[in-house]
Amino acid sequence: AKNSGRSAHVAFAPHMREDAAKRVQLELDLRRALERDEIVLYYQPKVALRSGQVIGFEALVRWKHPDGEMISPAEFIPVAEETGLIRDLGMLTLRQAIRQAEQWRRDGILTDEMNVAVNISGRQIGDKGLVGFIRDQLQESGLPPHSLRLEVTESLLINSDTTTGEFFREIKALGIGIDMDDFGTGYSSLSYLHRFPFDALKVDRSFVQRIDQTEESLSLPRSIVALGKALGMRVLAEGIENMEQLTQLIRIECGYGQGYLFSKPVPAEEVPEMMRHLDSK
Ligand code: C2E
Ligand code: CA
Ligand code: CA
Ligand code: CA
Repeated sequence: AKNSGRSAHVAFAPHMREDAAKRVQLELDLRRALERDEIVLYYQPKVALRSGQVIGFEALVRWKHPDGEMISPAEFIPVAEETGLIRDLGMLTLRQAIRQAEQWRRDGILTDEMNVAVNISGRQIGDKGLVGFIRDQLQESGLPPHSLRLEVTESLLINSDTTTGEFFREIKALGIGIDMDDFGTGYSSLSYLHRFPFDALKVDRSFVQRIDQTEESLSLPRSIVALGKALGMRVLAEGIENMEQLTQLIRIECGYGQGYLFSKPVPAEEVPEMMRHLDSK
């Protein structure tokens, strides 16, 4: 009887138990990581496609696990969101990015026309203290608000329209820009554009990856560029990896982009070197 009870589970239970255990371990580790210095930001440049000029950087979080492994945000952001740790993680990344941006301004690396963008998860938007925290961080660091941007995805859908609307109003009132991330992948991207005043659209990488010599592969990116123009928003293509994609994007007059072709995300200390490298291209 013992045996049959166990075998009834065999089909699905072992991996489920493993997953649950893995997540609990991940949560414990992440809690500890937040207290130590294991969470760092990497930075990827955003460029004006025609001139190649760097217009800013996107801050992307990295977790340097003590066992030497680099854990991807795709793996731990969802856990952070489910456990509420996203609040601490979000404050940590905002504080780091804001301090770093101000340091770069003083070093002359970040000009007045450039900015640093931070990814914000939908769960953070529901946090009443977030806007106040950002305001305080800007004040403390001395970073001008226009040197900071926020990137949000459709995950903001988890909040009510009122909450999201308030968040936009307050952030805009501070003078901070908001960009729509992963544009074109969600269900309601279009209705968002209508309701909330985004400053830029980021064309999802999946569209850029599909670009080849065919005109069909360009039809979606081209429509998004037209849409952005009509609404007075900048359009930035994500995940540009090769010259062909770059050439085609320039051809359809997409203004901005980022991707491995220019640079992978790098640690803050490697940014000056990356800039020199990009300048010499
Ligand atoms: P995302 O905001 O769409 O970021 C773009 C992702 O594409 C990054 O992955 C980046 O490293 C990667 N990428 C950039 N250029 C290329 C390219 O040319 N080719 C390819 N294949 N990939 C490229 P990453 O850093 O692993 O981040 C994954 C996601 O995790 C991000 O997607 C974002 O949604 C989330 N994330 C990252 N940092 C944060 C953060 O500080 N807070 C929050 N809430 N989410 C974050
Ligand atoms: Ca992003
Ligand atoms: Ca994106
Ligand atoms: Ca994404």
